[in-house]
Amino acid sequence: MKMIAVTKRGKGKLRGVEDHLIKDLKNTTISLRRLGKKYGVSYQAIFLFCQGKGIKRPKKEHTETCSICRDLLEIAKQKHSDFISSRTIQKQLKIKPPIFRYHISILRRKGLISKRFGKLRSVKVEQAYQIYLKRRLPVSTIGWKVGLNNFGATLRQHKASGWDFPAPLFIYDGDARRARAKVTKKKRKGSL
Ligand SMILES: [Zn+2]
Repeated sequence: MKMIAVTKRGKGKLRGVEDHLIKDLKNTTISLRRLGKKYGVSYQAIFLFCQGKGIKRPKKEHTETCSICRDLLEIAKQKHSDFISSRTIQKQLKIKPPIFRYHISILRRKGLISKRFGKLRSVKVEQAYQIYLKRRLPVSTIGWKVGLNNFGATLRQHKASGWDFPAPLFIYDGDARRARAKVTKKKRKGSL
């Protein structure tokens, strides 16, 4: 009952602007929802009007009209966007993983985003990269800060599979540091 009332009110409101609305429906790919806003009626009113008049809407590219894709493209444009985790993006856009994957796959297929955008899953690794890219701290320090034991290994893996980021500024990490510690120990013992 409520919907009928809305529709009737919508039809009344559309009187006098019908010609404009028909033009908008025939010549633009503006969504029905947005047209509803423009003409001050509900989405249903526009939908029923369009159907009633038998108007065929022009074909539209998904990425042009989809607000999720547009938002994803905005995020993808940011610097170092490959290092933003999928979880963060989903949270930002308030979408669930299947929805996220659906739209990402469209954008990826069309070549509109980098192959790696949206691939990173761990929020901790994302945080580690944020520090790494901005402050260039030693890898082990970054790992410790965000609570990752193996950030160095992640970096090596990513580098090997073609992720693009600057080399660590501090190279005396892991093995090198252990080696230095050994030398110091030996020195102390007087064997060097
Ligand atoms: Zn989309």
